[in-house]
Amino acid sequence: MTRAPQSSHDPGASALPADRIVQIEALPVLPRWLFVRVETAQGAVGWGEATLEGHVEAVTGALDAMRDRLIGHDPDRIEDAWQLCHRLGFYRGGPVLLSAIAGVDQALWDIKARKLGVPVYQLLGGRVRDRIPVYAWIGGDRPADVAEAARARIAQGFTAVKMNGTEDIGWLDSPRAVDALAARIGEVRATGIDVGVDFHGRVHQPMARTILRAIEPLGPLFAEEIVLGDNPDVFARLAGFSSVPLALGERLYSRWDFRPFFESGALDIAQPDLAHAGGLSEGRRIAAMAETYDVAFAPHCPIGPIALAACLHLAAATPNFVIQEVSMGIHYNAASADLTALMRNPELFAIERGSIAVPERPGLGVEIDEAAVRAMAATPHRWRNPAWRGPHGELREW
Ligand SMILES: [Mg+2]
Repeated sequence: MTRAPQSSHDPGASALPADRIVQIEALPVLPRWLFVRVETAQGAVGWGEATLEGHVEAVTGALDAMRDRLIGHDPDRIEDAWQLCHRLGFYRGGPVLLSAIAGVDQALWDIKARKLGVPVYQLLGGRVRDRIPVYAWIGGDRPADVAEAARARIAQGFTAVKMNGTEDIGWLDSPRAVDALAARIGEVRATGIDVGVDFHGRVHQPMARTILRAIEPLGPLFAEEIVLGDNPDVFARLAGFSSVPLALGERLYSRWDFRPFFESGALDIAQPDLAHAGGLSEGRRIAAMAETYDVAFAPHCPIGPIALAACLHLAAATPNFVIQEVSMGIHYNAASADLTALMRNPELFAIERGSIAVPERPGLGVEIDEAAVRAMAATPHRWRNPAWRGPHGELREW
């Protein structure tokens, strides 16, 4: 007997679900985000974020295909929807598919918690802390610029920041490049603020040890993506080289991607992005896995408000969580496209004493300005990261 094409759920002999997903919309918004709106037959609406910067068209396409699986599915069966999208497509994993799943996953948690009238963290076991420590970004290339930016963050209530360790850097660059980056980090530390240093995968093995040794006396909170996660063996060899905690994870998309980093013992801080790595459901599993290896959990989030809210709920309920990235006032976004530009309740992310209160509104707690989102999504952005080249025309990591 031939089966009808898979619609979504397979009701079998059981009755139709109490509610069912009737619409999944992908809405690209500035500065470079992708929101996902899910609606049910009973009129429940949830929002998720499937932002994968520079790849909005690919994720939108993946979401389009997922409609064939999910329209008609019971929105309360979040795990079943996750497994359906991840496993039933035969090909699985990677940033595009897991960002698409992330957007739907977050929206389904939003819907379920709103229906029950509770914040999402209550469905994750309740809170294990009262406030969520956060850090913001500082930009600037010269030591005086970064020190001034750090002082501005202190004035805003932050106690920790993150900065780029370097702009572009060669596979084997001049020792002067290392001196310059150490000077910039030193100026920021001198303001009294804690600083995480993001190397953005720009450094390659020949420079990595020298850089870790150079920044070690400055006491950074962590070194992020000192090398790309494409090379777990190189990353593992760097672990014993300095006392600087090694962080990584924004370009790992599932528990299977994280596994070799946990097993090697090299990773100190796991940084999955809940918009790239399968949403709240997979983020929670990665956090629990990290705990079994004594690894801290610090979700990556230089993106939009829905992804941040998902991070805050998971942080509230996760014992090994340490600190949350926020994109508020990030140097490369216009003020008109900042973190809270598309939400009606920006107070959700109020910073006080270096932290944000655990969100107490039902669902993820973000009230989206839907009219503004729809108006913006009518002309989809086509954001691309810049292509950097070194002094001889060679491509460098962005
Ligand atoms: Mg990073």
